Amino acid sequence: MQDSDNNKFWETKKLEEMSQEEWESLCDGCALCCYRKIIDGYLFWKKILNTKVACNLLDCKTCRCMDYDNRFSRQGECIKLDRKKIKKFKWLPKTCAYRLLSENKPLPSWHPLVTGKPDSALDSGICITDGINENEAEDWYDYIIGEVK
Ligand code: SF4
Repeated sequence: MQDSDNNKFWETKKLEEMSQEEWESLCDGCALCCYRKIIDGYLFWKKILNTKVACNLLDCKTCRCMDYDNRFSRQGECIKLDRKKIKKFKWLPKTCAYRLLSENKPLPSWHPLVTGKPDSALDSGICITDGINENEAEDWYDYIIGEVK
């Protein structure tokens, strides 16, 4: 999504200045935020752990929400990414465009806005492709894949 002067809005605008359409186009479709996290420990020892356990609305093969329009009513814990609070969302993956831009970092070369291809996040290999929906996972601890950094 570039304007008539070929400006890359994500390089010229702050998150607060973007239109709603621009804001939503920042999502690369990786679906990594749709996977459950475990908070382990407390105080200085607190860690956030990534799992391969996905929200029940996620199609784990295509990395797409199966009911995007109704996700908030169907999944009470689905979080709307509010641009005013984005710096608090430390659990977002390091590759997430919202986190990258809020930390004044560039988008990765595989981002759909850079490649012009909607599925380029999936093609890049960053997505979880062997996940499991939470209604099939007995114990989330069996599916830990690392710590959120
Ligand atoms: S982690 Fe970020 S870029 Fe990936 S699906 Fe979630 S909001 Fe979109």
